[in-house]
Amino acid sequence: MRRSSFFLPTLKETPSEAQIASHRLMLRAGMVRQSAAGIYSWLPLGLKVLRRIEQIVREEQDAAGAQELLMPTIQSADIWRESGRYDAYGKEMLRIRDRHDREMLFGPTNEELITQLFRDNVKSYRDLPKILYHIQWKFRDEVRPRFGVMRGREFLMKDSYSFDLDFEGAKKSYETMFTAYLKTFKRMGLTAIPMRADSGAIGGNLTHEFHILAETGESGVFYDVAYDELAAKGEIDLEALDRLYAATDEKHVPGAPGVPPAERLREARGIEVGHIFYFGTKYSKAMNAVVQGPNGEPVAVEMGSYGIGVSRLVGAIIEAHHDERGIIWPASVAPFQVGLINLKSGDAACDAVCEDLYAKLAKAGIDTLYDDRDDRAGVKFADMDLIGLPWQVVVGPKGVAAGIVELKNRATGERVELSAESALARLA
Ligand code: ATP
Ligand code: MG
Ligand code: MG
Ligand code: MG
Repeated sequence: MRRSSFFLPTLKETPSEAQIASHRLMLRAGMVRQSAAGIYSWLPLGLKVLRRIEQIVREEQDAAGAQELLMPTIQSADIWRESGRYDAYGKEMLRIRDRHDREMLFGPTNEELITQLFRDNVKSYRDLPKILYHIQWKFRDEVRPRFGVMRGREFLMKDSYSFDLDFEGAKKSYETMFTAYLKTFKRMGLTAIPMRADSGAIGGNLTHEFHILAETGESGVFYDVAYDELAAKGEIDLEALDRLYAATDEKHVPGAPGVPPAERLREARGIEVGHIFYFGTKYSKAMNAVVQGPNGEPVAVEMGSYGIGVSRLVGAIIEAHHDERGIIWPASVAPFQVGLINLKSGDAACDAVCEDLYAKLAKAGIDTLYDDRDDRAGVKFADMDLIGLPWQVVVGPKGVAAGIVELKNRATGERVELSAESALARLA
């Protein structure tokens, strides 16, 4: 992509409405623009990141045996009356009337819709187990939308739903999703700690929230200090979880069995990026999602739901990966891998080297943003650091005359001078 034609409205000044780093940087880097409270347009750069995160989530869901489908954003109130949640959900639900005065709503989640789909189409235990998911926009009329896409009103969520014949099966589905979540967040350069969470009115103790530790997190969390070490090594797994304490403040009971002593207990803030939940037959019984069991008897299916905040993750990744100059994207979610900076656009020699590199990078399948604008070097450097691509290749008249370009690593700041060919070889 050529910077001169790319729709990338970066800002020099920090927008006053943004209170946390990720929100400030997403606005300054031209990733999103707010259209109403908690409702955002995703500009090309932001959309590229969102899509990459979505794709990692999809790949790990598919690898875990979940099957993708796509349910609508708008739902009928009827199914929510069947489950009893239409009245219970309260003001967070955006309620809509169509021209025939039928009650509709913009889905805040999809348990009812998936249960309806399941009950209408699955009749036998032989079709179990199933895990179905979609990646779809949700709407929740949050009391206090804030921190940009972190707490939006319209936001992108991946939600999966598991269907099993019995508790043993449901527990297996839960564990499958649990491991898939650990892999998913790790691929994005995040250390998410699974925290025992409060299952609220539904009961049962199979629920975990996945949290990214961050001072700006909206949730209070408690965890065994051993997690800090495991997190640094990226070794959080099911075994660690069985051994070590971690819980959200709603679940945490000071001094209860299993809670580590004060010197080993950390209290911190977390960003909830995922939440998994086993809820048994709550919806299947209310909505009559029944299959025929092995002996011909009717069995209400055992269900679980598993959410990931795809759009919230964009902000969470930035909270975890930035410095005073801007974003530092992990390569796995970066909008482009390389930023090619032409320090003297219009200079025949510089243009020639850049055009050649740009074409060769494209040929090698490396997504590159080429800053070909006729602008000051300082502006180009600042912009490139702000949008945080993993690598920068800087081409200037002096270097070109000497047959060299500069390769800079955004994360470490390390720079090396080398020939254009060597730079290409390193990036490919
Ligand atoms: P929170 O505690 O932050 O309000 P939640 O517990 O209400 O989230 P869930 O119903 O568990 O959310 O939804 C699954 C995931 O969707 C959450 O873990 C979170 O990552 C994401 N999510 C929820 N609400 C929002 C929101 N308003 N904006 C962006 N992402 C959200
Ligand atoms: Mg909420
Ligand atoms: Mg929550
Ligand atoms: Mg939750």
